[in-house]
Amino acid sequence: MSQARTAIVTGAARGIGAAVAKRLAADGMAVAVVDLDEAACKPVVEEIEAAGGRALAVGADVGDAEKVAAAVARVAEELGAPTVLVNNAGVLRDNLIFKMSDDDWDTVMTVHLRGSFLMSRAVQKHQVEQKYGRIVNLSSTSALGNRGQANYATAKAGLQGLTKTLAIELGKYGVTANAIAPGFIETEMTAATAARVGADFEDFKAAAAQAIPVGRVGKPEDIAALASFLCGPESGFVSGQVIYVAGGPRA
Ligand code: NAP
Repeated sequence: MSQARTAIVTGAARGIGAAVAKRLAADGMAVAVVDLDEAACKPVVEEIEAAGGRALAVGADVGDAEKVAAAVARVAEELGAPTVLVNNAGVLRDNLIFKMSDDDWDTVMTVHLRGSFLMSRAVQKHQVEQKYGRIVNLSSTSALGNRGQANYATAKAGLQGLTKTLAIELGKYGVTANAIAPGFIETEMTAATAARVGADFEDFKAAAAQAIPVGRVGKPEDIAALASFLCGPESGFVSGQVIYVAGGPRA
């Protein structure tokens, strides 16, 4: 099946999202590169276009229902009906529970959970119309519990429930939903965590690698490779799954 598809990747200005956007474009999809700041999406769009692909920079806060509706409508208008969605946008507000503020909690829930819900609700309309769709949600090994991440672990576990429910509700329309749960991936997010605990990033990565069975930390491309399969036409019988991509059973 070689029909061109339109994909939306959120949080795609950098890190894992940027790698996924570039990979889906290389797979032949037109890709909407969505992030808070539209200008920050432009380098990724230019890289995709330079490689012969099609892409669009879209600025939107995934936690804002009106912005999400406008962004999805614009993508449908300019790139075609979006049938592939990767809910990747994310933030950290780490703190031990006794120091975690209401805002630390709400911000993480808004971006990860509300953002993925709003995007999925807006995109499923196009998927149902097209009788085809792929949704990939970015969970995390933190869903299994992680010190200092009561908010993030809860959101990442919640995304697994959203994924399974989307799989059940949308399956009959040819839509699959799966979650990728990365372990330690080298991005600005993990660099910020190193900075927060006062560690040099190279030392931080080396220490993390020692606890990972394959002996290294992950790269954004490790996640993009699985996203490529889960967003592609051949994965139609894989749905409602959570796949840990962590160099071992868990990081
Ligand atoms: P990253 O480098 O921090 O990139 C996240 C992107 O999301 C940033 O460009 C950020 O924009 C954007 N974003 C934040 N809030 C947004 C919002 N409300 N609307 C739209 N975009 C928003 O993170 P990453 O490491 O690539 O992580 C990507 C995803 O994988 C996240 O969901 C993360 O939780 C998950 N994950 C990462 C790891 C890891 O080790 N890196 C492990 C497990 C899971 P701004 O820069 O403007 O804030």
